[in-house]
Amino acid sequence: MSRVRMLDPHVADLIAAGEVVERPAGAVKELLENALDAGATAITVEIRAGGAGFIRVADNGGGMSAEDARAAFLRHATSKISVKEDLFAIKTLGFRGEALAAICAVSDVDCLTREHGAVIGVSISVSAGQIGDCTDAGCPEGTTVIVRNLFYNTPARLKFLKKDATEAAHISEVIIRAALSRPDVSIRYIKDGNELLCTPGGSLLDAVYGALGRDFGSLLAGVSNSENGVEISGFIGKPEAARGDRARQYFSVNGRPVRGRVLTAALEEAFKGEIPDGKLPVCVLNINMPPEQFDINIHPAKAEIKFIRDKEVFDAVYFAVKSAQQKADMLPALQVKRSPLTFSVNTNPPLSQVSAYLSVLSDIPVIPIIPSAVKAPEEEVLSLYFASPAAPYALRELPRETEEKDWRFVGEVLGGYIIAESEGAIWLIDKHAAHERVIYNRLKDRAAAPMPQTLLTPSVVSLPEKQCAVLLEEREFLENAGFEFENFGGSLLIRAAPDFAEVFELPVMLGEIAEKFLSGIRTPALRDDILHIVACKAAVKLSTRSSLSELMAICGAVMDNPDIRHCPHGRPVAIRLTRSQLERQFLR
Ligand code: ADP
Ligand code: MG
Repeated sequence: MSRVRMLDPHVADLIAAGEVVERPAGAVKELLENALDAGATAITVEIRAGGAGFIRVADNGGGMSAEDARAAFLRHATSKISVKEDLFAIKTLGFRGEALAAICAVSDVDCLTREHGAVIGVSISVSAGQIGDCTDAGCPEGTTVIVRNLFYNTPARLKFLKKDATEAAHISEVIIRAALSRPDVSIRYIKDGNELLCTPGGSLLDAVYGALGRDFGSLLAGVSNSENGVEISGFIGKPEAARGDRARQYFSVNGRPVRGRVLTAALEEAFKGEIPDGKLPVCVLNINMPPEQFDINIHPAKAEIKFIRDKEVFDAVYFAVKSAQQKADMLPALQVKRSPLTFSVNTNPPLSQVSAYLSVLSDIPVIPIIPSAVKAPEEEVLSLYFASPAAPYALRELPRETEEKDWRFVGEVLGGYIIAESEGAIWLIDKHAAHERVIYNRLKDRAAAPMPQTLLTPSVVSLPEKQCAVLLEEREFLENAGFEFENFGGSLLIRAAPDFAEVFELPVMLGEIAEKFLSGIRTPALRDDILHIVACKAAVKLSTRSSLSELMAICGAVMDNPDIRHCPHGRPVAIRLTRSQLERQFLR
């Protein structure tokens, strides 16, 4: 007797069910997709506990006739595609005709549905894949599917389910992703009788507020771009929204939530240098492109996407994000707590001097800064700081010069932070971070034609043998960055250095560069990394005293150049306090 035989259809369904619905969230995803494919404008998802016991998805879409409802639960039954060509231009979320068959193979399903325009609806129950009779039922237009006892007949699967809270969290994620990729549809999510999420069916921002909350929504900048037939709209998070994981990177393609390495890579590349190393950006980006340009049929749950032309999609996303960053104001706002405030004047400078400053600085705003000497969190003591003693006098000489500009240099405080004013806002600039960015940009601009500065007296730099050796090996590369040096009996004789570099910084700078080479990572970004090191070492230190002209130059660079917003490591160079934020603090 032959040992090879056809699988029993029910066993085949159980196997397919394992792929399509791995966990309750998988069932919710499939039912949501069916509702969206049916043209619903409002969908309610209700679950109890972790969803395995009870899931209900109700929609107001086109509904099914009795005949369709009976067929819908059969394996490979679909109304969405018919010939193989359809597979290459899929416009619906589902197309395999597997989901309902898979779900009902491992659960008890009740379905109530009324076709658009029909006088009466039908009710059908399916248990362990056995389709019951269709009976007439009074119900609204649209479809409601209730799934109970998921995985009751597949104990192994049931055993692998995580705690209810974990399964429910997976379901929330599925619903958030659907809500963000189809903001035009109102989606409601109820868990154990409580509404957890509701989007109104409107703009993407409405959906973001509904699905992710106001706090998240307030940290976004708009994206809108079209390139190579790839249309991109949505939002990127400002740098302060960045996080340690990718949980808040939402992409969709033609209304389908997707994951794709190209998308993530383009987003993260565009954020390099804008956010601190180790942090990951957030986004809600909806992409529209011709359906024949990608393949969604590569993953059982249709979550992964493959693009025919990776590079074009990468570029489209990258440039969309970059241009959004340039247009948007990516500066973080100064965070000041809202609880009742009392003011105290810091004793340094002394009070007598303070009043003297005030008379000189009468038109210069006094800057409240987040408490530097808070004793207990509930004691909100704001210290008032003033421009450095030299500033007001020097300022009197300089305003003529700055009158033409739309910003004003105010002074330096706390030995390192520059204060400026523009268009109803106060700017606090980190002089080191800003200077670092200025130098880095200049080094980058002139990378094609480096400008080494020949040292008056060549400087001998002693470094560990390994470091010296690697620097000598990479001499050509370093010459392109403005260094000239030679072997000097186990040390390096430096004849020229990039013109921003101070001689006394050279040993540390070269040591760090050598370590970079020794780490063995040869990415195209290596050159940038080395420029970072030069810029960081050459920039004024926060604690070093700077001349007024130096401070004014750094201030001007930040205020006049919108591309100087983050240091090369991604830390902000400035934060801003607007008049309205200030007024709120004063309860005006
Ligand atoms: P697919 O979505 O891949 O076609 P499914 O098993 O998910 O396969 O659904 C089978 C068919 O049942 C669909 O093609 C559709 O015609 C019908 N159907 C399922 N859910 C709904 C719904 N909520 N409203 C209307 N029709 C539905
Ligand atoms: Mg489906």
